[in-house]
Parts: sequence; C-alpha cells; structure tokens
Amino acid sequence: MTALNRAGWRPEMNAAGGADDNVTFTGNRALMLEEALIFEIGSTETTGVDFDEAAPDADFGDLARTTPIGLPGLSESETVRHYTRLSRQNYAIDLGLFPLGSCTMKHNPRLNEKVARMPGFADVHPLQPQETVQGALAVINELAFWLIDLTGMYGVAMSPKAGAHGELCGILCIKAALEARGEDRRVILVPESAHGTNPATAAFAGFTVEDIPATKEGRVDLEALKARLGPDVAGVMITNPNTCGLFERDMKAISDAVHAAGGYVYCDGANFNAIVGRVRPGDLGIDAMHINLHKTFSTPHGGGGPGSGPVVLSEALAPYGPLPFVARYADGTYKLIEEENAAEEHPATFGRMTAFHGQMGMFTRALAYILSHGADGLKQVAEDAVLNANYVLRSLEDVLDAPFAASGPCMHEALFSDKGLAEGFSTLDIAKGLIDEGYHPMTVYFPLVVHGAMLIEPTETESKAALDQFIGALRSIAMRAKNGDPALKSAPHFAPRARLDETAAARKPVLAWEGDL
Ligand SMILES: *Cc1c(COP(=O)(O)O)cnc(C)c1O
Repeated sequence: MTALNRAGWRPEMNAAGGADDNVTFTGNRALMLEEALIFEIGSTETTGVDFDEAAPDADFGDLARTTPIGLPGLSESETVRHYTRLSRQNYAIDLGLFPLGSCTMKHNPRLNEKVARMPGFADVHPLQPQETVQGALAVINELAFWLIDLTGMYGVAMSPKAGAHGELCGILCIKAALEARGEDRRVILVPESAHGTNPATAAFAGFTVEDIPATKEGRVDLEALKARLGPDVAGVMITNPNTCGLFERDMKAISDAVHAAGGYVYCDGANFNAIVGRVRPGDLGIDAMHINLHKTFSTPHGGGGPGSGPVVLSEALAPYGPLPFVARYADGTYKLIEEENAAEEHPATFGRMTAFHGQMGMFTRALAYILSHGADGLKQVAEDAVLNANYVLRSLEDVLDAPFAASGPCMHEALFSDKGLAEGFSTLDIAKGLIDEGYHPMTVYFPLVVHGAMLIEPTETESKAALDQFIGALRSIAMRAKNGDPALKSAPHFAPRARLDETAAARKPVLAWEGDL
C-alpha cells in the first residue's frame, strides 16, 4: 500500500479499509485532485510554447546561455490545470465571507474592474509624455480631491503603495516638519493595541517607540498619554477606529494635548470604512492619516493585487509631502510636480518614495467605487459595516466571551476572547474548525491586549443571510470548544492539508525543492 504524504487523509475513511496492499491512496477527494509540485510533474524536455530556431548568425553576446538552467516545463494544458488546481485549494472573497479582522476583505465590485481595464487607463505608461495622459492625471487629481473632502484634510500624497508605506510617508513628513523647526524629538508614542506596522514604521524612520497603555474599556488611556508628553515626543500613532473595534472617543482631546506639547498626530486610517462619510479625521485634529484604497475603497488586496495607501495631510504637514504629485493649472491642464519644478512648486518636500505617481489601477477602481456610491452611499457603507459587526457581536456573545461588549456598540469588527472554552481548547482550535465549516479563519491572537483574541470583520458587503450562515457555523464550533469535542483538536479534517505544525513551519521552513528533474 502506498499512501501519499497527505496529512489529514485517514485510511479508515476509505471503503477499502486501508488493509489491502493493492489499494493505492491517491490523496484525491471530492472532485479535488491532489496536486504535486511543478518540479515533480514538469520536465526540462517539455515546453508549452514553440520558438523559432535562432538564426545561425544570431549574436546574443554575453546573454547567450551556456548551460541548461533546469527549470521544469509543462504543456499549456498541464500549466492551466496545475495552477487551477492550486487555486482551488485557496479561499477567496469571491467564494464566501472572509472574516479576517483588520483586513476589510469586502466584495470588489465588477464595475471597478471594468473601468480599470479600459485601454485608456490600462495601457498608459508612466514614462509617456504628460500631454498624452491628461485624462489619467485628471483621475488621480479627482480622487485626491475626494479623499481630501471625505477626511476634511488639507492635502494628500497619492504615491504610497500600501498602508504601511503610507505610514512611512506620514512619519517622514513629521520628521521633515520637526527638522524645519530645528527640533530633535526622538520618541513616537504608540498604544498597546496598535497594528504591528505602526511601531515598525516609527522604528524604521529612526524614532524610539514607547507604549501608551489601554484602559479597561479597550481605548487609549488619555491621562497616561498626557503624562508622557514632553519636548522629546515627536508625535503619536493611533488607529481609529482601533484594533479592538472601538472608536477612540477622546481623539480630539488626544490631538489637542499632543499639539500643545509640540508633537504631531498620526492616525492609522486602515479602518476608515467604519466612519467614512460620518466622521472627518481633520475635525479631530489629525495631521496625517493613510487610507488603504484596497480596504475602504474596495480595490482587491491580499494576494489579489497591489495595494495603494494615499496619505491625507494637515496644513502643517502638507508642505513636506513627497514628490511626485499631480497639480491642476488654471488653464485646465495637469502636470506632475517633480524634482525639476519642485523648487518653485513644492520646495519643502522630504523627497520621493516611489519611482512614479502611484498605483493607477487602484486609483481608477477607487474612483469608480466612490462615484458609483456618491457621498450618501459612502455614508451607508460605514453604517452597514458597523451594523453587520454589531450583529455578529450580539449573535455570538452568549457562546463566546466578548471582553469589550460592555464598552458599547463596536465599530467595524467584533472582538472575542478564549475565556470559557473547555480545558485544553484554544482560539486556534476554533480557527481550524472554521476551515472545516467552509470559512477562512478570523484574525487570531490579535490584538495582543485580549487573551486568545478572535477578531471578526464581516464588512458591509455581506447580506443578513450570509452573516446568519457564518454565525451558525461559528456558534456550532464555539459550542464544541466549550464542550471539549476531541475531534476539534485535530481540525481541519476536510481541508487539502490537516493541521500543520505552525511553529516548525515558521522556525524551520523548507523553502527549496531538493531533487532531480
Ligand atoms: C491593513 C492595516 C495596516 C497595513 O496596511 P497595508 O496596506 O497592509 O500595508 C495598518 N494598520 C491597520 C490597522 C491595518 O488594518
């Protein structure tokens, strides 16, 4: 009997009982074929394309290959099947609810995709003469004005490529502003519940990171923050709504205190979908905030595409924003402000973070999303995101411990802890159980301020029926974890791979294929 090395495949599940030496376990199941590595199925002799023979007198110079490079080849049909089979082992927002907290995995409207694929947008090149791409520049400029309008801020840097990149942009603006004031402030204060990118960004930009404690209600401790402010504090980085799914009600008081002490306020705006159209961060005294177009404005993210993290800036920080950016002139033309014309147009810039103007494909998608919703539609986005998260919170709080349920309604995400599970059962067991129920797990063990945290963000694009189905699945797993069902400890049983040793995978990763072609 040969058994493929497929964890989770239980011989006793096979009708043959696994006792007959003539039985081969293929590892295939339920219309899913087990897929080997491309190195195992490909060969150097096979190719999916026919190239003409090189002309006898062709001279490739140094580029001519002298030895085979040993890459496996597949025919076209084998290639299509290989990647399609692998893709079926994955989970996607187009398959079902994606509860990952802090990720805003929501439906990407197909209208956005259609617009982004229009040749006038999809086929332009960043090195084209600017007079030939005036329409594309107008799109960037119009999106910039929408972002400024929706946030109540003064300016916006469109070029950062993701949320974390936007954080770096904002912090570099703060650094440049402090330098212009001739001040050497070294400390950035970050709450305990911050997204990991916040302290990483501050440290990367050369600041020292210090924690601000949270209150029992899961919010920034204003008094502790005030007590730490002083001439060495460059600013704070605060996520609002925060990663406990709560609105920082003291945000204005926090900003006032930080400004009075000479610092700047960075807000992590990744969760903007919970407040868009309802709250303008500019009114809360914020100096810089990134917006994840790939979260709030529905452009695809994760493995699905490049992100985009524009940063809105206050009047105090806007002069230091990066190059290049699009400017509209009085005669209706658009021009990129770059190094050549920065001296007259934008002299205090801290410099450039990207080769070009930003992610055009994300800009077109985000603007299509904004224009198809309109200001009222965007407000409803926030209301529905909050409604859906509260529905999840209240539907599960009788079976899962909800540590901040008493702090009032949540914003865009519902937070649970592992309190009350049977002895020996953990958040990980619930996450793995969800896979067997057909769902990608929620965010687990984050934020760190809650023991065994489970953070669920349903987003506004899920219907009540979809939420009820998810809640039903999670309720049943929560009950099994409370009752100590031993089968849950080895879940998932129906996934392409069973429970993996995640510690070994992280500590001793095997990243290279070792074998012969
Ligand atoms: C997603 C996220 C980020 C980072 O954004 P990326 O686009 O992934 O770089 C930062 N902070 C919070 C709160 C987030 O949810």
